[in-house]
Amino acid sequence: MGVGVGGACAKGEGKVYAGNLNVAAKRARDIILGKLKLGEVVDWATTFSLWPVHLVTSCCGAEFAATWSPRFDAEQYGALPWISPRQTNFIIIEGTVTRKMACALRITYEQMAHPKFVIAMGACALDGGLFYNSYNVVKPWEIVPVDVYIAGCPPPPEALARAILDLRKKIREKKMASNWLREGWRGDVEYPMPKEDPCKWWQP
Ligand code: SF4
Repeated sequence: MGVGVGGACAKGEGKVYAGNLNVAAKRARDIILGKLKLGEVVDWATTFSLWPVHLVTSCCGAEFAATWSPRFDAEQYGALPWISPRQTNFIIIEGTVTRKMACALRITYEQMAHPKFVIAMGACALDGGLFYNSYNVVKPWEIVPVDVYIAGCPPPPEALARAILDLRKKIREKKMASNWLREGWRGDVEYPMPKEDPCKWWQP
């Protein structure tokens, strides 16, 4: 049965456009298996398999929700929000992180599958934003390694969609997924543990 399919493969070469799914699949198979190294396929596939976990830390979460609404439709980038950290590889830190939420953030990050990626959105995630001088606000990079920052208060859904595209580009250029499979680490960042256990910060 004729099905409208359109897409582009890794490195942008050999675009596969077809009205017939079988023909499109054969062309894609020839390009992917014939011209690309396995690592390039892994990085390319990872960019279409970014599943963010639900962890809303602050009011930027409304923009996160809007990004996946029908108007902006972030699922078109292969990003599907999921409820369980163990089935996700991507976390979006939505604004302020308090000392109490730092514990939840670190535990969630540790539970996610490798290779994993982080976007921090909003002025609060950059330098504290409105709450820059608050006693209980921490910077996300003190808890997890951040790949892409988004400025603004709040950043609009378009900015988050742009950040997802930037992250995809970074994964491909730095071979972040294939490096992790080959070496056991991504090669571009270390996975820092905080000097202190963040889960002790808010306990009496
Ligand atoms: S950047 Fe603005 S919208 Fe986002 S969490 Fe901070 S105050 Fe809220």
